Amino acid sequence: MHWQINPKIDNILTKAQDLAGLEESEACALLRLNLESREVYALMETANRISRELFGQKGETHFHIGVNVEPCPFNCRFCSLAATAGVFHESIEFSEDEIVSWARSAQACSADAINVMTTGTYELASLMELARVLKTEVNTPLVANTRDISHREGEQLLDAGFSGFYHALRLGEGRDTPFTVEKRLHTIEVIRDVGLLWMNCVEPVGPEHSPEEIAHLMVLARKHGATYSGVMRRVNFPGSPLESVGMISERELARMVAVSRLVMGNIPKAHCTHEPHSASLLAGANLFFPEVGASPRDRIADTGKGRGRSVDMCRRLFTEMGLNPDLPSNCFGHRDSRETDPALPIRIKRMNSLA
Ligand code: SF4
Repeated sequence: MHWQINPKIDNILTKAQDLAGLEESEACALLRLNLESREVYALMETANRISRELFGQKGETHFHIGVNVEPCPFNCRFCSLAATAGVFHESIEFSEDEIVSWARSAQACSADAINVMTTGTYELASLMELARVLKTEVNTPLVANTRDISHREGEQLLDAGFSGFYHALRLGEGRDTPFTVEKRLHTIEVIRDVGLLWMNCVEPVGPEHSPEEIAHLMVLARKHGATYSGVMRRVNFPGSPLESVGMISERELARMVAVSRLVMGNIPKAHCTHEPHSASLLAGANLFFPEVGASPRDRIADTGKGRGRSVDMCRRLFTEMGLNPDLPSNCFGHRDSRETDPALPIRIKRMNSLA
């Protein structure tokens, strides 16, 4: 069968193979592709091939621990922890023993990182203290996921033992959240300035977001040098203010994951998607977040007993889809194919011509 695709899309995919990244208009053209079209499969094939070659078939597992639940006064509209969501009426702080036990279990399952998430008002000093404790218990790299920070606070987080900082300029920032775009961008600069790795995701995507909004955040992630930046969909909890808008499907998510992979070019060390599912592992994703503790997508305080997926389940999905969770992580300095293998774009192209 001779497989011809739209020449304009073909040109964009050919450019993407050079790992130079895509611009917003090119990403928008890909985001608008019909899900039933051959072009979508060509897009996903290109993203899949690039990721598997660049990341060496590694399946990354970054274990999320949400350390506290509270009716959060910041009231982001997509978050089940928001006070106005009416899901949680009391604050819960998981005990140090419980958090240490989760971290040890993550290490025992060969997780590549531990993401420590707090709600918006959690004391940064407590987060740093927790990191100091965790550093004595596990040697898995720690990633903070908390409020906006200053340079001084970034340096303190680094001293406390964090290697990375997850921080997203969200879709609908300032509209669905009380935070300004400028404040979020400033924190991203702080993260880079102090030497923390910036971890990002284009999130939380729903049907209400335009291709232009989504493409803008994808390109921003490349320009600011994200260690990873895939796509997470918004998950509606019962009673969510955005319930009437609906959610995107995993198939739509996989199309976006592929676009963001091509946008990122040779910048990332991994490519994430959330929540864990198979389709995006054929569209350039290689990073999952198993979860315990608080989650902004759950009605249950410990999402490990709710929506959260286990490390074992994530590892199983990787194995089923031909990725290896036991290889060393690419995110924390073990491997940089951009430096070690300048012939990579040529090899990716050659693989394509042989296909
Ligand atoms: S996303 Fe964070 S800051 Fe916003 S309501 Fe939820 S916990 Fe609070």
